[in-house]
Amino acid sequence: MAWWDGTFEITDEELAARYPVAITSDLHASDDGSKMALVCRFTDGDYRFSLADPHLEKDEQTLFYHVFTGDDARAARKFINRFIATGHGINGNEIDLIRFEADSGNMFIYSEGEICIDIIDGQLALLELLPERERINDVFVLPLKRYLYHCPVCQRRTLMYRGMYDICVQCGWEDDGTDDEDEETGPNGDFTIRSYRENYLKIKNSDMNYRWFTTPCISPKSLHLETNVQ
Ligand SMILES: [Zn+2]
Repeated sequence: MAWWDGTFEITDEELAARYPVAITSDLHASDDGSKMALVCRFTDGDYRFSLADPHLEKDEQTLFYHVFTGDDARAARKFINRFIATGHGINGNEIDLIRFEADSGNMFIYSEGEICIDIIDGQLALLELLPERERINDVFVLPLKRYLYHCPVCQRRTLMYRGMYDICVQCGWEDDGTDDEDEETGPNGDFTIRSYRENYLKIKNSDMNYRWFTTPCISPKSLHLETNVQ
């Protein structure tokens, strides 16, 4: 299972307001070019953008990446090179990764992105990971950061690391790395994963929109385009 059931559903209008410049069908930018969105038009098993396969293990981080081909490759390469040259790409707030679900037509932001600048020049190495038929085309591979880990309580992909005391934005669990359902953990008081989940589900059942961290991902304020002050 490569995908989680995204929490932050957005509409075409919200995407267009936030990222009005379409570089390719998958790559959108803010007016000033300081923010971008990658839209994954995901179909099951699509190797061109998959959280599961192919991926690249580097320094024990699992990266995933987006593959542009043909004219898209040239346009994306040009834009992304400029994006990086102007100092962007390593701050997760500058890239949204958006999953487009063809069946329902819904879009979900599933995490903030981050370009792995250190290996973006390793295009040849990245191409080696692709199926043979893809390598003969004009291809540009955009490597992104590792994907998020499942929270042991609510199973959402909300944790950047395991065992680093990340707090799950969905349920509020503080992760000390344990997966033992019945072990008491230091940071969560007397709660175990099991008892915390029971508590969380009670709250969730009485309020379907409940989320521990309450700042919404998409809000009128966040739709307002911000210009980076250098
Ligand atoms: Zn959680």
